[in-house]
Amino acid sequence: MAQFLTINDVNINKKRVLIREDFNVPIADGVVQNDLRIRAALPGIQQALRANAQVILMSHLGRPEPGHWQAEFSLQPIAACLSEMLNENVKFIKQWPVDNLNVHDKIVLLENVRFLPGETENSPDLAKQMAALCDVFVMDAFGSAHRAHASTVGVAEFSAQAVAGPLLTAEVEALDRIMQNAKHPVVAIIGGAKVSTKFEVLQALLTKVDTLIVGGGMANTLLAAQGNAIGASLWEPDLLDAAKKLLSSAQEHNCKIVLPTDVVTQDAVVKNLQALQATDQILDIGPATVQQYAQYIASAATILWNGPMGVFENPKFANGTMQIADAIARSQAFSVAGGGDTLAAIENAHLTAEFSYISTGGGAFLEYIEGKRLPAIEALITKR
Ligand code: ADP
Ligand code: MG
Repeated sequence: MAQFLTINDVNINKKRVLIREDFNVPIADGVVQNDLRIRAALPGIQQALRANAQVILMSHLGRPEPGHWQAEFSLQPIAACLSEMLNENVKFIKQWPVDNLNVHDKIVLLENVRFLPGETENSPDLAKQMAALCDVFVMDAFGSAHRAHASTVGVAEFSAQAVAGPLLTAEVEALDRIMQNAKHPVVAIIGGAKVSTKFEVLQALLTKVDTLIVGGGMANTLLAAQGNAIGASLWEPDLLDAAKKLLSSAQEHNCKIVLPTDVVTQDAVVKNLQALQATDQILDIGPATVQQYAQYIASAATILWNGPMGVFENPKFANGTMQIADAIARSQAFSVAGGGDTLAAIENAHLTAEFSYISTGGGAFLEYIEGKRLPAIEALITKR
């Protein structure tokens, strides 16, 4: 467990509590499309409300151009969503600097911090303005913890007190349970389009896990490194040498890397790897591969999953991903899943509740697994 204070270690009773949330959720026509991250933030907010704190919430949404308000990046729809979930009027404050905060406003939501010049540069002036709003700063945006911004790092530095909220704490605990003190056998399943985006994740995992299962487009480069012909599939020739090193490094660490033996091609035909034609594209793992992966999953004590096994957006190539989700759901192991597309697949399959922990962090989740130190967490450790 990281050495930072949590909201339980400080007195927030009747204090002004500023919580950095991750309300970076998909919104269409002013309506929240997926409220997982908002629901995940509720325990921290409710804890502060129960303590009769004045609760000030802030978050980013998307990547707007700083200095210009743009309707599509406004957090206003989140205020409506939160009011309903909390059964409490959440006042929305659009202007910055905030000069109309009333002691009687129990809970307010500030406008998107990324409209503010200096936010992504971690401007000390902006961070001081944020810190001045509160007695206690609570960092609960795990999904933004890998960003050194004014609302994640600077504000912690300048606040009287800065602590972790329950979501951030739970995320760190769940990921440490995989990366630091896991029950073996540990099985990691990593997928997605390109091996280059997750190369460091694979490198970090092979020193920690017993079995590293790779699927999705990123398996293609590893298959090529083993000397397999992969037809016209997506792969990254530049990474061929790195992939070969990864495979031998896994051997040195006694980590078994498991790759597909059969696949689904663009015509939705199942083929053994050896039967691939030069024009074939691998778009999903095949049924024999699914069965093999499911066996590893069934005998695991700890499971980590990130990345779809195929182009799951198309139902023709979603079977591998759905079957893996199902296999993990049926397992009794401690299971953690993360990643935007991975969570979408799990939600499509209505299996969210079957996982031990669902990480709300995309980039932060991957960086934490890589063993990187996340700046917002470091700021809390320094503060202590
Ligand atoms: P996550 O968001 O869960 O971290 P990624 O964004 O890394 O996952 O990967 C998801 C993407 O990978 C999806 O858009 C999916 O279509 C793509 N993908 C998976 N398998 C393949 C494949 N065989 N060929 C091309 N793209 C693939
Ligand atoms: Mg993704």
